[in-house]
Amino acid sequence: MNLMKIAIIGTGYVGLVTGTCFAAWGHTVVCVDKSVGKIAALSRGIVPIYEPGLEQLVADAASRKRLSFTVDLVDALKEVDVVFIAVGTPARPSDGEADLSFVYAAAQEIAQTLDRYAVVVVKSTVPVGTGDIIERILARVLPGGSFSVASNPEFLREGSAIADFQVPDRVVIGTEDDAARRVILDVYAPLIAKNVPIVVTQRRTSELIKYAVNSFLATKITYMNEIADLCECVGADIGELAIGIGLDHRVGATYLNVGPGYGGSCFPKDTLALLRTAQDFGVSLRIVEESVSANNARKRRMALKVMNAVGGSVDGMKIAIFGLSFKPDTDDMRDAPSIPLIETLQRHGAAIQAFDPAAMLEARKVLDDLTLFDNPYDCARDADALVIVTDWDVFKSLDLKRLREDMKGDNIIDLRNIISVPEAALHGLRVTNLGSATPRARENMARETPPSWRAPSPSARRVGVLAKPHPH
Ligand code: NAD
Repeated sequence: MNLMKIAIIGTGYVGLVTGTCFAAWGHTVVCVDKSVGKIAALSRGIVPIYEPGLEQLVADAASRKRLSFTVDLVDALKEVDVVFIAVGTPARPSDGEADLSFVYAAAQEIAQTLDRYAVVVVKSTVPVGTGDIIERILARVLPGGSFSVASNPEFLREGSAIADFQVPDRVVIGTEDDAARRVILDVYAPLIAKNVPIVVTQRRTSELIKYAVNSFLATKITYMNEIADLCECVGADIGELAIGIGLDHRVGATYLNVGPGYGGSCFPKDTLALLRTAQDFGVSLRIVEESVSANNARKRRMALKVMNAVGGSVDGMKIAIFGLSFKPDTDDMRDAPSIPLIETLQRHGAAIQAFDPAAMLEARKVLDDLTLFDNPYDCARDADALVIVTDWDVFKSLDLKRLREDMKGDNIIDLRNIISVPEAALHGLRVTNLGSATPRARENMARETPPSWRAPSPSARRVGVLAKPHPH
């Protein structure tokens, strides 16, 4: 294996995991960040984000002198073979377009600092054609032939980032340049040895793969959430339905869980950025457009779900919220569904008491007037209702008897379907979850056969609509 000297620019969720895993494979890695506080903490062995297993891996790599941290780019780029750009590409609030200012600034800094041939690899999620622009930024300062620009999007998921990075479904490398391809293949040699599929493609295709996969997954989630709404009205069960469709290998069993709408640092901004790209090229991506608006509407509707469950109004109520991060095993609050939910409940007069195993510090930065507790039972004390927003493991094994004793009210609104409804009922708790028959649907079912299942009219029989489906 050809060991490389690698610099990573941007030491966030992606940059830190990438750099640490490269160092664990034997490369020498310097992670650079603008944030003095972040680099100072990392240099003392303190990992500023919550990611299971990362702290140990950072400590191991640092003790072997393979991983270091700096704010000094000149120092980091000395004798470097590869530079990865892993800075943020958030959505611009004005129009949803990817804000590439951090990426371009990093490219500019590299151009002014690089003093030997290196491959510049864009790991940040960037719109199609960004590699071309970075190439032009570098070419304004550096002589031709002294650099190559490639794309290598990252697919790790927060919460399982290390396993995702070390055993990925595939690695995508986008370059038309042989030298760059060889260098990047050397960086990923340990994965090639493990037979991980490596997709080598054009730079533009590689850039688009990342947006296409995230938009596909966001759409899959949104589709299941809409089917869950239908389940509630027709008296079907989304959990069993997900098993029934997930066993079809053409569909696949993942990303079928019902929930309060997708959030996080990637899906919301990447779907918007893909739509902007499509718009710029005059292409309509109606499915992605609909997913974005259905998901936004769903996030807003979750507060209504809570209000309906408690009788119409939360004014003057204490509502306990379990889970603030956008998903379990991370402290990331970016676009978390908990934010619009809590803000809406507060606007309607509720006092919010919350607990999250990792995200409470981050939550304080984006939400006001939260009372935070360091365990779920203290959080639930005297609450009129409890809302489960994030499916952390700790919420899957709650002591329901104790919860009932601690709470003032008896309502649990379970936005992740992790509480057993019959077991909760045994302890006097009423659960409102997602995608199973609502009381109104149950009443309808008891009263009459749903209209669409009645005997078809002669014309309907001819075209085959309205008939009750055959149970095969
Ligand atoms: P992040 O915000 O956690 O980290 C970005 C870091 O870059 C910050 O620490 C910031 O201080 C630093 N930075 C910005 N400009 C800099 C500069 N010029 N020099 C040095 N440091 C600089 O972002 P993230 O979540 O790690 O995401 C990075 C990229 O990876 C984004 O494009 C994102 O879409 C993509 N991505 C993220 C994930 C994820 O789960 N977070 C997964 C796959 C891909």
